[in-house]
Amino acid sequence: MANLYDILAAGFPADRTKSAFILSDGSAVSYGELEAGAAQIAGHLVASGVTPGDRVGLQAEKSVEAVMVYLGVLKAGAAFLPLNSAYTKAEVDYFIGDATPRVFVTDAQAFRAEADAADPLLATVERADDHLASLIYTSGTTGRSKGAMLSHGNLAANARALHQIWGFTRDDVLLHALPIFHVHGLFVAMHCAFLSGAPMVWLPKFDDAQVMAGLAKSTVMMGVPTFYTRLLANPQFTAERAAHMRLFISGSAPLLESTFAEFEDRTGMRILERYGMSEAVIITSNPLDGDRLPGSVGYPLPGVDLRIGGGEATGVIEITGPSVFSGYWEMPEKTAEEFTADGWFKTGDVGRQDADGRVWISGRAKDLIISGGYNVYPKEIELILDELDGVTESAVVGIPHPDFGEGVVAVVIGSGDEAAMIAECRRQLAPYKSPKRIVFVDELPRNAMGKVQKNLLRDRYTDLFKTG
Ligand code: AMP
Repeated sequence: MANLYDILAAGFPADRTKSAFILSDGSAVSYGELEAGAAQIAGHLVASGVTPGDRVGLQAEKSVEAVMVYLGVLKAGAAFLPLNSAYTKAEVDYFIGDATPRVFVTDAQAFRAEADAADPLLATVERADDHLASLIYTSGTTGRSKGAMLSHGNLAANARALHQIWGFTRDDVLLHALPIFHVHGLFVAMHCAFLSGAPMVWLPKFDDAQVMAGLAKSTVMMGVPTFYTRLLANPQFTAERAAHMRLFISGSAPLLESTFAEFEDRTGMRILERYGMSEAVIITSNPLDGDRLPGSVGYPLPGVDLRIGGGEATGVIEITGPSVFSGYWEMPEKTAEEFTADGWFKTGDVGRQDADGRVWISGRAKDLIISGGYNVYPKEIELILDELDGVTESAVVGIPHPDFGEGVVAVVIGSGDEAAMIAECRRQLAPYKSPKRIVFVDELPRNAMGKVQKNLLRDRYTDLFKTG
């Protein structure tokens, strides 16, 4: 039972002059400076009337000061509410109205500077395992965005498990190019660095040249799949460039098998894919030692129990474990719907677990297509399309269809002959699964974490089968 801040700070190096952040201009910010900044901000928050359990929001560009705000909020016993820097005023108004933060920070540097006037808070405010540490709003493609309540205990348990299974030590250097308004960059990546007292090569965003230079100084990179496709598109990314690295981790969206294979061809290294979500942080991971299989997200983390709901081999993944959130902020009914009667969280991801215990994900339940009364799992069709000449990547969606309810439509990055490709799909798949139309595009709509936004595709092509 402890405040997450103290748990993380216990990992900071004894020698606080050691770097926490290595910046692109070659300068560094030490662990001592990080700790002092967090204490000033915590003091400033307390002086401003923030009490334990209050929410403190942050919508700002990625910076060291933004991390100080995060840690200062924890230290003051408040709950951190990070918001995507791309949100519009109207979106932010909704989150502020819903979460009612006591303080809302929009300029982390200015906030850090004004905090110098306050007395630093030296003793961390005590919190219990089940106290709220952070409110993470889900990207919510349908309905209102929901605030997942993550406790000190949830985040500490996940951080400790990842630190251990991914073999982090103080000799690691983490290449951090992810945004910090999302669990991936905020919790998964940073907590591993803090618990090891390791430095981070701190990049404001994924920039090819900076990442290429950062690889020479780093040992671990965490990224979304688009980081890896971008690395591979750069001919300067070679086995020599990767030689200093011990581990490349991917998550937040499915890693294409072709990316996994190409990466191994190029570097001799296998990307370690893991699976997680805002509501539980990391759920499964491929092994550090042992086989990392393309297409599988690996084994449940220590302490996580995983089962497939619905009584079939493939169904909605349900989980329990120490990192599973307690519910959605002020939405008791929505929360009740997302948990089973016996207390398992329904992730909304459809998948299966093989005899070895490995988990394979076939997509979001809400992306399931029902065509002519038959269930169609998009992933099955995408895997076939991705193998065809001329196809780089595909996204299969269900579009309203006058006869079938939904018709299967493939949106494909690449080019080719639509009729010939459909014929090829029909050779490999039952007719009801084969795409009725294939649309060629230059790119697929993605959110900040590289996830393909199928809801936008469904909207865009909603009239495709309309007659008359
Ligand atoms: P978020 O809450 O924004 O982090 O989104 C979580 C969702 O991302 C999960 O429910 C999955 O649908 C998806 N996701 C995360 N990691 C993976 C992965 N390795 N493979 C497939 N889907 C993933």
